[in-house]
Amino acid sequence: MNQLLSHRIKTLPPSATLAMYQQSQALKAQGHDICDLSIGEPSFPTPLYIQQAAKQAIDSGNYFGYPPTAGYADLRATIAQKLHQDNGLVYEPDQVVVSTGAKQALANLFLCLLDPGDEVVVYAPYWVTYASLVQLAGGRPVFIKGRQEDNFEPTPEQLDQAITPRTKAVLFSSPCNPTGLVLSKASLMAMAAVLDQHKHVLVVADEIYEYINFTDSYTSIGALAGMQDRVVTVNGFSKGFAMTGWRIGYLAAPLWLAKACEKIQGQLTSAPCSIAQRAALAALEVDKKLVQAMNDTYRPRRDLALQLLGELPGLKFNKPGGAFYLFPDVSYYFGQTDGQTTINNAGDFCMYILQKAHVALVTGSAFGEPRCARLSYAVAEEELEKAMRRIKQALNKLKLG
Ligand code: PMP
Repeated sequence: MNQLLSHRIKTLPPSATLAMYQQSQALKAQGHDICDLSIGEPSFPTPLYIQQAAKQAIDSGNYFGYPPTAGYADLRATIAQKLHQDNGLVYEPDQVVVSTGAKQALANLFLCLLDPGDEVVVYAPYWVTYASLVQLAGGRPVFIKGRQEDNFEPTPEQLDQAITPRTKAVLFSSPCNPTGLVLSKASLMAMAAVLDQHKHVLVVADEIYEYINFTDSYTSIGALAGMQDRVVTVNGFSKGFAMTGWRIGYLAAPLWLAKACEKIQGQLTSAPCSIAQRAALAALEVDKKLVQAMNDTYRPRRDLALQLLGELPGLKFNKPGGAFYLFPDVSYYFGQTDGQTTINNAGDFCMYILQKAHVALVTGSAFGEPRCARLSYAVAEEELEKAMRRIKQALNKLKLG
C-alpha cells in the first residue's frame, strides 16, 4: 500500500549521516569491531551538574505538566542573557523559542518563512539537513559553494549573484558542519555589506558549534551594526554541552518571526521535554569554563586527526577552525580498485572503508561536495588512531584498475 505515501515523503532523501550510522550499527550487531567516525556526537557524557539538575527537576514533582509552548520563561530569559553576554546580541526573552533540538528550530523556521518556490541561499558544503528542511517546507535551496583552497568559504560575489527576488533567507553554520570553517568578523562584515543591497533577505546563522572553536575569536553576524532585525540566531545544547540526547535547541528571531515559530510549534509538538529544559537551564547557569574545559579537548584531537590524515596518500584537506569534523577530498582514489571493488565516487569510498576497514565515514555528496568524505574526530584519541591505521591498510590495497 505504499502508493499511499505522499510525494513529499517519497522525494525526501533519508539523512545520510543517520543511514551510515545505522549501517555501522548493523555491522556492530554482527559482532564486528567498528570505529564510528560517522555521527557528530561528543564522546563525553553530559556534565554531572546538568544530569543532577534533571534529577532534581524530577524529584521536585513540579515539571510533569505541559510547559509553555515556546519554553519555560526562565530558560528563555537565560538564553536571551547568554546571547547578550557571549554574542553581543540583543534579544528579549519573548524573541526566543526553545525547541526539540536546533533541528526543530530550523524546521519551524522554514515552515514559517517559505511558500512554494521561495529560495534559501545555502552556504555549501552544508549540513545535510538544511536542503531537506527547505524542500519539505516547499522552498528551493540555492547553493553557493566555497573552494577547498579557501577553506570552503564562498565569496561575497557568489552570495550577491545567488540572491533573487524570490530569496527569503541566507543560511550557514559557523563553525561549519562539515568543513569546520569559522567565518571571521571580516567575512561576516562582507556578507552584511552584500545583504545591505538586498533588504528583503533574512540571515539564518546556525551557531551550534560556537563553543568548539579553535580560532581566537567568535563573531555572531547579528551583532554587526544594522543586522539585529534581520538575523535569526540558531543554537542548542547538543554539541557544546554534550547533550545530544536531551534534544534542546533554540532560535532567537525578530518578534514577528519568533511568534510564528511558536505558533507552528504549538501545532506540531508543543514545547520540548520539561525535564530536558530544566537541565538546559542548569547548563547555562554554571561557569562556562567548566564546559570549555571539555570542549578544549577537541583541539588536540583535531591536530592528531590532521597529522594522521596527512599520512594517508592522495588526500587533500583543509585545517578546520572549529566543530569536530575533517572533510578531505578523496577523489584521488576514484577509478582505483582492490581487485574486487572499484571506487567511482565518495559514496563507494565510504562503503569500501566501512566494509574493508570497519570504519564509518559519511559521503560528501550528502553535504553538497561529492569529491569529499566527512569524518568526525569527536572520539577518543585511541579510537581515532585505530581508525586511521585501518583506513591506511585498506587504502594501501587500492590501485588504478
Ligand atoms: N546544526 C548543525 C550544523 C548540526 O550539525 C546539527 C547536528 N548535527 C544541528 C544543527 C542539530 O542539532 P540538534 O538538533 O541536536 O540541536
